Amino acid sequence: MDARSRPVFEYLRISVTDRCNLRCVYCMPPEGVPKIDHTQILRYETILNVVDAAVAEGVHRVRITGGEPLVRRGVVGLVHQLAGRPGLDEVALTTNGVLLGDFAGPLKEAGLRRVNISLDSLRPDRFARITRLGHIEDVLAGIKAAITHGLTPVKINVVIIPGENDDEIEDFGRFAHDHPVVVRFIERMPFQAACSEAPFVSQEQVLDRLSAFLALEREGNEPGGGPAEVYRIAGGAGRVGFISSRTHPFCRSCNRLRLTAAGQLMPCLDSPEGVAVADLKIEDLRRVIRDLAVAKRAHGKTCARFDGARCISLSDIGG
Ligand code: SAM
Ligand code: SF4
Repeated sequence: MDARSRPVFEYLRISVTDRCNLRCVYCMPPEGVPKIDHTQILRYETILNVVDAAVAEGVHRVRITGGEPLVRRGVVGLVHQLAGRPGLDEVALTTNGVLLGDFAGPLKEAGLRRVNISLDSLRPDRFARITRLGHIEDVLAGIKAAITHGLTPVKINVVIIPGENDDEIEDFGRFAHDHPVVVRFIERMPFQAACSEAPFVSQEQVLDRLSAFLALEREGNEPGGGPAEVYRIAGGAGRVGFISSRTHPFCRSCNRLRLTAAGQLMPCLDSPEGVAVADLKIEDLRRVIRDLAVAKRAHGKTCARFDGARCISLSDIGG
């Protein structure tokens, strides 16, 4: 299929909650972000309607995210319902891993294909400082459980922040060498906690440092139009990848649609606002998705350039 004949949206990211059991310094203030009222949080039934409409319009993969998706009651049941939906090739989940040790087995059984796990430091004290509330041993147990239960390939998301964890780039490279995971270095984006500036470490800087001691071979972009550029590590068990929205914006190839926990469909991370979907019937949902697709295409898919910082949290939109 050539690019013009592909559906604009092939991938839906669903934020099932704005709540989180951590308070990562680059994502939320210490007190957390203002919580959406319980009555405003999307019901699972509505999520399934949106998924059905999105599938009818070309979406064939979904990812559950948040906030922290594993803190929302009933999330395993949602995975089960999604995994049984005709037309969906893959149900995946992004988590901070804190609860994954207990959830990996039930999630796999429910039909989850794989997980991305966030881990910004390999040092217990620093991990606790960056996440403000976390214990690294929980996340390491979560990673182990995900591998054991076959939620693979396990991808580890690392946001490198200058002066915070940039001295661990080599350690994360070694971690990828020694474990069957893909460690993905994410350029920090200017969201919450960085409204005025968001210092980041670029893909080139990380690559230079890793190449000094690992033989890296470029594999290409992740399958399915994913934003990460992936490298094999000669003789290694895992791989490294880069998600570089600051230095290598991937808006042009973006095929994502987002559903926020408050029930807004958004064509782009950088959209000023979305379309409220809670009360819409399938035909209306399909029309909204088609309209958003036309708008996204008209924009030349260059809307999210992150040239202006945003004083909201990625946890609001669904990271
Ligand atoms: N709580 C889950 C987690 O941490 O994986 C899912 C939601 S979180 C918002 C999703 C991803 O967004 C995480 O990998 C996190 O590191 C990333 N993220 C949050 N704020 C970010 C920022 N300002 N720049 C880059 N990535 C960010
Ligand atoms: Fe929570 Fe994920 Fe944001 Fe960390 S990055 S505060 S775990 S939503």
